[in-house]
Amino acid sequence: DVAHGRILYLEDVSVSFDGFKAINNLSLDIAPGELRCIIGPNGAGKTTMMDIITGKTRPDAGTVFFGSTIDLLRYKEAEIAGMGIGRKFQKPTVFEQLTVFENLELALKTDKGVKASMFFRLDSGESDRLAEILQTIHLADAVDRLAGTLSHGQKQWLEIGMLLMQDPKLLLLDEPVAGMTDEETARTAELFLTLKGQHSLMVVEHDMSFIKTISEKVTVLHEGSVLAEGTLEQVQNDERVIEVYLGR
Ligand code: ADP
Repeated sequence: DVAHGRILYLEDVSVSFDGFKAINNLSLDIAPGELRCIIGPNGAGKTTMMDIITGKTRPDAGTVFFGSTIDLLRYKEAEIAGMGIGRKFQKPTVFEQLTVFENLELALKTDKGVKASMFFRLDSGESDRLAEILQTIHLADAVDRLAGTLSHGQKQWLEIGMLLMQDPKLLLLDEPVAGMTDEETARTAELFLTLKGQHSLMVVEHDMSFIKTISEKVTVLHEGSVLAEGTLEQVQNDERVIEVYLGR
């Protein structure tokens, strides 16, 4: 929501599992078009936070807004996905027996609820969008290849492309460069910088050199709340962050 300067807004969110506070008074804002990196040690609550935003986990307390008007806690997971919040898990899940083109086409069909109808055809606007996305995800030369023959990095890009076919406002990505070669990682940074501005992105990542190339703002989660926020340099020099990471 441009007028209010935020696309996502969490305030004092908490959730417990068997009495253990996985998320503890978490407050966080994402601006429209922002590319935000989320870091934090294992168990910090990064996955649970994503689960709350996408409606997979319901918090015990707090506020979660999409833009300034949509109270996400009133909606189910499938409804939230349909609002333009796309999520990508760590492992790529593409249809290996289908081509790159067919995977992208299918992402749109599924979105339209017509599933695998053989009568489905892309209209010209959709074809243009698909062509543009192919360029963005560095797969324009691989359009007719079976997804199963792509490299790990290319599969990750294809899955991002499938999310983009649904024109999401907010993308949540879990360790997108894990397992990538250095070259794939560099091209993923390029891809994210292209997406930034048109989409808001929240990226959970451990690769600090990757974060350095893509992000202006980093949020450090620890024990279910925000420990520090700022540029990578700022948070890396923050005493509390150093203590948490180095256990001093
Ligand atoms: P991260 O993604 O930062 O590693 P998680 O969000 O996965 O952290 O987990 C935060 C904490 O909540 C961990 O201690 C984890 O064991 C616990 N947790 C997460 N989901 C559940 C669940 N469904 N039941 C019980 N404990 C959970």
